Amino acid sequence: MRLTDLPTDATEAFRHAGAYASDLVRPAVRLGVTGLARAGKTVFITALVHNLIAGARLPFLRAQADGRLKRAWLEPQPDDDVPRFQIEDHLGALTADPPHWPNSTRRVSQLRLTLEYAPASLWRHVTGSRRLAVDIVDYPGEWLLDLSLLGQSFDDWSRASMSACQRPGRNTIANPFLQFLASVDAGTTAAEPVAILGAALYRDYLSACRKQDHVYTGLTPGRFLMPGELEGSPALTFFPLPPEMAAKDKSPLRTLLARRFEAYKSHVVKPFFRDHFSRLDRQIVLVDALGALDAGPAAVADLSSSLESVLASFRPGANTWLSSVLSRRIDRILFAATKADHLHHSMHDRLEAILGRMVGKAVTKAQFAGANVRVLAMAGIRATHEAEMAVATAGAAALPCIVGTPLAGETFGTQIFDGRREVVIFPGDLPLNPDEVLGSGNGSLEGTLRFPRFRPPLVVPRAMDPSPPFPSIRLDRAIEFLIGDRIR
Ligand code: GDP
Repeated sequence: MRLTDLPTDATEAFRHAGAYASDLVRPAVRLGVTGLARAGKTVFITALVHNLIAGARLPFLRAQADGRLKRAWLEPQPDDDVPRFQIEDHLGALTADPPHWPNSTRRVSQLRLTLEYAPASLWRHVTGSRRLAVDIVDYPGEWLLDLSLLGQSFDDWSRASMSACQRPGRNTIANPFLQFLASVDAGTTAAEPVAILGAALYRDYLSACRKQDHVYTGLTPGRFLMPGELEGSPALTFFPLPPEMAAKDKSPLRTLLARRFEAYKSHVVKPFFRDHFSRLDRQIVLVDALGALDAGPAAVADLSSSLESVLASFRPGANTWLSSVLSRRIDRILFAATKADHLHHSMHDRLEAILGRMVGKAVTKAQFAGANVRVLAMAGIRATHEAEMAVATAGAAALPCIVGTPLAGETFGTQIFDGRREVVIFPGDLPLNPDEVLGSGNGSLEGTLRFPRFRPPLVVPRAMDPSPPFPSIRLDRAIEFLIGDRIR
């Protein structure tokens, strides 16, 4: 009998027992890295791994500050059926001449980094060292939003999705899909071609919502936005029906769509949570808070509610399907506002405070307790440096600015950049009091922040230092919070 012939629960028990057994031989910690598209997952993992291997100075990582962290290296990952995180390709992009940003996360992938360290208790007495394997699991945050589908029937989901796409603002984006629905003959026997066309239009609508207003709420199924290996699969050919076509209708079309919806839950959503998510020990959630602040109050409100959904996945209620498959509990969660290098350092604490307030609300709403949750403003790779710009007005303080090379084609006012010229930019101020941007929206920063995308920094290998680390912001604090206690 093969392992896969067993009923699912038994297979899981074996798999997890195997994982624990190997963890006893070599202690391991599974670190989940997630965030919505372009939040900075790929850049963060690449910087974390490269900087640890390259022995970068990480003063807030205690093991390194104490001189106990001896070395770090990559090892074959334990799960043969999970794609490997393509670190070599990403490093190749970032160290090319000129450097460019690597391809973003599209699916789940994994990498094993091993750290050798001297335990603090034995340090100075004995020379022995220990090893910790860190299994880094990169996955799209969009997939977490699908957890809410498990408690919904096709009719529940159709109702919620239809009311979302008829909301003012979204209904224009949804127009091609809504027009298609109006033309569908509910009694058609050609259900499959209709399902394919409708799913394509629904997917276009979801993608357009995300691009246009940075808003995610109600944008399920997550795999329509980030299909991973399911691109083009029949599992993704369904769409919501309006109430008059959905409830109690026995037509071939409704029957097919409802069946696909159920198949999506059992063959796509559940396996992801069971095989990947349920085995995580630690989690970092990367958040492009600056992008949302710049996009306006709707995007900020939406980000807060997406964070609530994310937190709900980390602490499912008792007796839910997810609680029954969780083999471990995530005991540390770091919410990190990424791309902090787009701001002067004097604004980093303010960015942290804004994200902290958003997460605080989500924590309260999700009745979340028991895990250590922290918030940090950081940049996996720092693409800018800082400068002060003198102001012509007598007595006025100099403006805290950032200096970087905007990517070719980026615009700023009427300027279009060529990808070579360095510019000094005053990115704008964040308020001292986070409520100014999180309240009714009166203090909206919409359009007031200036964030061109910058080229990655030039890291030039030298004979003495063939793989120099990337400059970063607070990466060491992130690593200390996520795994520092495991290398004491
Ligand atoms: P993800 O894998 O989809 O979460 O996102 P990526 O890691 O690919 O990042 C998306 C884009 O955000 C990159 O191509 C960069 O333009 C930008 N980015 C990500 N992290 C940083 C950072 O630390 N600093 C700067 N300046 N830009 C970043």
